[in-house]
Amino acid sequence: MGLEPSDNQCRLNEYQQVVEDKSGWACNVCGFESQRKSVVKACHPKSQLNRERDTAVTDRDDEHVGFVFPPQMNSKTRTVLTSIRQALEQVNESAVLPTAATALDQHLPNAPEETQAFQLFTHLVWLQQYQVLPGYPVGKTEIGESKATIRQFCNSATQFPGPVSESDIQDSELVERSRMYRRKVLSVTPQFFEQSEIAGENLAFYRDWNVSYSDGWAGVKFCSYSVFGESTAHNTVVRKCRDWLATHPRIDWACVPHTIGAPPTMKTESSTQPTQETGSEPTPNSVYMYDFAGFTGTSQSQLAVIGCVIGSESVREMLTKINHVRETEAVALVIVLNRTSIYTFLYEAHNQGLLQTPVVPTNNVSEYYARLPSIQAVNEEIRERIPEFDHVHFVTIKQLIDDVIAPVDVFPAGFSAGVPVK
Ligand SMILES: [Zn+2]
Repeated sequence: MGLEPSDNQCRLNEYQQVVEDKSGWACNVCGFESQRKSVVKACHPKSQLNRERDTAVTDRDDEHVGFVFPPQMNSKTRTVLTSIRQALEQVNESAVLPTAATALDQHLPNAPEETQAFQLFTHLVWLQQYQVLPGYPVGKTEIGESKATIRQFCNSATQFPGPVSESDIQDSELVERSRMYRRKVLSVTPQFFEQSEIAGENLAFYRDWNVSYSDGWAGVKFCSYSVFGESTAHNTVVRKCRDWLATHPRIDWACVPHTIGAPPTMKTESSTQPTQETGSEPTPNSVYMYDFAGFTGTSQSQLAVIGCVIGSESVREMLTKINHVRETEAVALVIVLNRTSIYTFLYEAHNQGLLQTPVVPTNNVSEYYARLPSIQAVNEEIRERIPEFDHVHFVTIKQLIDDVIAPVDVFPAGFSAGVPVK
């Protein structure tokens, strides 16, 4: 990707949370505005920002390989994951699977030499999904060259008896495949969490895009949980996005996941129930969760980029998020599977009457945008044609996985928070 995170990234100092201007109060981090100081103060409190900053790519001595484990994670699970991560820090990438296997074997509640290859297999898939295994999942070109897949490793590790066959995988219902660009990658299923004695609860339960709470940030647990409830494909792209974004010279730190919006602190403003229905109207002070975020400014952290990896979200949900980013000064980075996904997204948004501007002068969205020479040109056309999207950049997973773009190619040279990107 050309650039590495720099040494002076990730400083968080001279923190001033709110500023007063003629229209009311504004959050210094994201620009969120309200007449009420208490609401703005709840937008990016230092404790939350520090917590999110702790999930950042930090300096090289303390770099997070994967995701920071959420504070609410079951303590037994956290202990297992932390000890495996520590063991992996001591070895190079070629020893990742044998080291993780030995460490897992010590935590699985089996008698000595009784861990089966299949049990090992499902737990390694779980570690892969949580981004605990450096270098995994392996890319298609790496398979067979220098790296074994988890399944190949389990079938060759003679100290763990039993096969891991394709029919074992299908019959077990403990793992499933999801597409990540050129290939499919394995994730664990809810049944896995029911069976495993070390994996703790299935954090997928906590996924929710619109987190509304009545008791301030202390009650918002969802933000740090969210990536742990997603598939391997989603999480791998999210991690890549964070690391990729952190290589931009103007980005000081990047984190996964990130929330913006002020949790209502007044009991009258919201019910005590989190909103579960994705189709419901968001409340004015809803907290929105995004997959990753980038911050800029060495003396004052400012939100510069908010990103989403499109997964199973509805178009309506994505548009709500994009509109919410628009209320801040940040750029909305939308990660889609491929170029066609951009057209599909536009077409759906247009077709459902969710856009105020016609997306194309003709009826055929794909045909119109497919004629443009590059994804960059598609982005420029969208930003010019659709004012609601003048802060949006689409990036494809192909571009990210193949390392064909650096963040400096996506954002203009003068890019930073507060600078309109045109
Ligand atoms: Zn804010």
